[in-house]
Amino acid sequence: MGWAIKLGTVKGIEIKVHFTFLLVILLVAIEGGTGIGGGLRGAVLGLVSIILLFSCVVLHELGHSFQALRYKVKVRNITLLPIGGVAQMESIPEKPGQELAISLAGPAVNFAIAGLLAPLALWILLAQLAAYLDQPAYFLSKTGQRMLSRVLDGLFYGTDWKALVFYLLSVNISLGAFNLIPAFPMDGGRVLRALLALRLDYLRATRIAVNVGRGLAVLLGVAGLMLFQFPLVLIAVFIYAGGGYERQMVEVKRVLQGLQVRQAVTRELRAVTPATPLAYVLDIIFHGYQSSFPVVEGRQLVGVLVREDILATFRERGPDVPVGQVMRTNFPVVDLSDSLLHVQQLIAQSGVKAVPVVEDGFFRGLITLDNINETYTLLSPRR
Ligand SMILES: [Zn+2]
Repeated sequence: MGWAIKLGTVKGIEIKVHFTFLLVILLVAIEGGTGIGGGLRGAVLGLVSIILLFSCVVLHELGHSFQALRYKVKVRNITLLPIGGVAQMESIPEKPGQELAISLAGPAVNFAIAGLLAPLALWILLAQLAAYLDQPAYFLSKTGQRMLSRVLDGLFYGTDWKALVFYLLSVNISLGAFNLIPAFPMDGGRVLRALLALRLDYLRATRIAVNVGRGLAVLLGVAGLMLFQFPLVLIAVFIYAGGGYERQMVEVKRVLQGLQVRQAVTRELRAVTPATPLAYVLDIIFHGYQSSFPVVEGRQLVGVLVREDILATFRERGPDVPVGQVMRTNFPVVDLSDSLLHVQQLIAQSGVKAVPVVEDGFFRGLITLDNINETYTLLSPRR
């Protein structure tokens, strides 16, 4: 996802920071320096609090990720964006129980942190009020109320470690609660879908969950407009779009599940041998329709040659390189009766853009993402 800096790796999961996020850190430091606390102390406190905030976001995403790893779902990385964190997972299981556990694990981490901080926060608050605790009537008097709100202000907007405790407490409660709003792309949307999917078909559950989320988005958007709170309107648009995206993904997945490799495979192919020079292949690419090639030796399939490798090698080393040095020898294989969804996932996992198709051990053709897209466009039920 664009330009990002790697921070480290946890259990094989890369943690990265997107460069726009560094801009936010800079802004916060400047604002802290010129804001309430002011000066260097304000800037440092601003920085510390934003770093703590995003540490909590990372812990939230790690909560999802560790739960996903338990179900053998691969997690590629966690990227920090100014709007929050994103954990890139291979594909979240359709089993409602698993999706529910993975989705709840993130907010659960935030509530757990809040739970750990709560006694400390309570202790700080009580220490501030210690002198008056034995005079309940005092808190009802005007001076008592004024004193209480000044103490709370000091704790939430102060410039010492006590303020950080209250800041972290409120941040984690809001992170947990915000993510549980039942609307995609928030965790709450997944929670709702998973709960519905316990009883309903997965696609139907998704549609209902998307509609609920969109209903909330409309309410939020209208409220934002009426209150002139434009960030709310933005969030509403974001939620509305997120719902559509989720529904479309599930619909496409459902269609691809019902289509077979035999409906999309390209059978009319020119094969090449490991000794064939790249120039020959380039000629076919530029003057024909074929862009990936089976590489055969005798009657045996020994490699797959894909367009991106061909062009990259040509640019670097010219047209005389033999195919044997460019082909992929580590490739997945599919059967004519496999589903297109399976092929799509294999291509995403392996990174090999053309997958050989076999039947009873014999090579029958290649299948690519383009083939899948074309077949989807022609055969998806709505058309
Ligand atoms: Zn989450």
